[in-house]
Amino acid sequence: MRHRVRVICGFVFLAGLWFSASVFTALAGETDTPKPAVVVYFSNPKSETMWPALAEAFPQEAAQAAVAMPAGLQLMDASLLGPHAEFGRLVQVHLLGRCDVAEQAFRPLARGLFGGPLGWVLRVDGEIQPYVYVDCERLSQYLDAKVLGMSAEQRQQAMVTAIARIMVHEWLHITLQTADHTEHGIRQAELTVDELVLPRAASGD
Ligand SMILES: [Zn+2]
Repeated sequence: MRHRVRVICGFVFLAGLWFSASVFTALAGETDTPKPAVVVYFSNPKSETMWPALAEAFPQEAAQAAVAMPAGLQLMDASLLGPHAEFGRLVQVHLLGRCDVAEQAFRPLARGLFGGPLGWVLRVDGEIQPYVYVDCERLSQYLDAKVLGMSAEQRQQAMVTAIARIMVHEWLHITLQTADHTEHGIRQAELTVDELVLPRAASGD
């Protein structure tokens, strides 16, 4: 049986208001325009070991899903931000719990099977906010059976790929300002384990 999990439940009625002009350009100067950025926050410092791989995987997964990124987009580890960092546009990604797949044995989820989303965004007054949340603990459990026989390096790569794909999925909710999903591809409401970790060609996208 293929368990499917809801990656996110978007929900928005307001159309059109994006990332563009009005929301973000207030920060932009005339001569030295701040660049857009994705800033990633690791709730558990141990997860930061995966940063280089994740910084590489996110743009790769976006490109493979044919998702255009803004010119000059910077990816940053929040722990390295200075006190006066300034951005033209900003999406914050909060990775909750340990994301660096620790050594683990198979342990079926005790509380209701995959009892919540792996990733989500917030809606305020009908507008999808530029904050992405990924529940790494839940994701780790979701991938557990799949990665059990893998080496530590392979497990971490599977986790990185899954997080990057969830980030792209949520990025699209934010940038498109829509809760809509598609039947196939990265914008599906529910992604299987294989769709989260397998190479694109093998996952059918
Ligand atoms: Zn979604």
